[in-house]
Amino acid sequence: MSRKVLIAGNWKMNGLIKGSQALAKEIALATKSLKPQAEVLVCPPFTLLTTVKKALRGSRVMLGAQDCHMEEKGAHTGDVSPYMLKDAGCDYVILGHSERRTDHKESSALVKAKAESALKAGLKVIICVGETLDERNKGKALSVTEKQVKDSLPDGATASNTVIAYEPVWAIGTGKTATPQDAQEVHAHIRKVLAQKLSKSVATRMRILYGGSMKPQNASELLNEEDIDGGLIGGASLKAEDFMTIVSKAK
Ligand code: PEP
Repeated sequence: MSRKVLIAGNWKMNGLIKGSQALAKEIALATKSLKPQAEVLVCPPFTLLTTVKKALRGSRVMLGAQDCHMEEKGAHTGDVSPYMLKDAGCDYVILGHSERRTDHKESSALVKAKAESALKAGLKVIICVGETLDERNKGKALSVTEKQVKDSLPDGATASNTVIAYEPVWAIGTGKTATPQDAQEVHAHIRKVLAQKLSKSVATRMRILYGGSMKPQNASELLNEEDIDGGLIGGASLKAEDFMTIVSKAK
């Protein structure tokens, strides 16, 4: 079963209008000259969504946000609803990133509620899961990610509206990458869990991205693994050349 590779850039809390316009334009231009073997997505901070949307105009690069609230609107100072993201031109929203699970104490139940609201608003969701180093060292990588997938997956998830991102916490922003074999083991396990929870047919078609210090030098070997269907890229997505080199490695 061939799944279309998705390469998504998570800009995190980086970027001001000027530099981000240039970065988005470079990515848009470079994507035009690549064969469409991969879907390309950039997820800037909220303040840059409109700017980046404009800079991407006419290209096939999609726009995503990094989080949303679970409610449609109301008294939630500082929050942004999925309907606002849709209105701003977003296609995707990343949910349950480990930085949000840690910094904002987000539980899988909250991630699930946010994801269900995002799907209702017409967004696609990228649900992040992954174990800490301590959990891996205790042999719990599979059980921890399994529980996060089961508890975070929204009702109504399909292969076209939901993507899973396996991001071992110890590999995010650290320069340490999971070996392709270790990553593949977890990805295959996640696919098994999806088959139990949804159906074999949905699990076979749902994309599972790897995230955690993916860069031009290690992208090929990771993307060559059978159950790795793309990447969620943090640091390396802030340089157009690095990001596009990763996109060019898509199967
Ligand atoms: C991420 O933030 O999702 C991520 C994978 O970051 P990095 O590529 O910098 O490890």
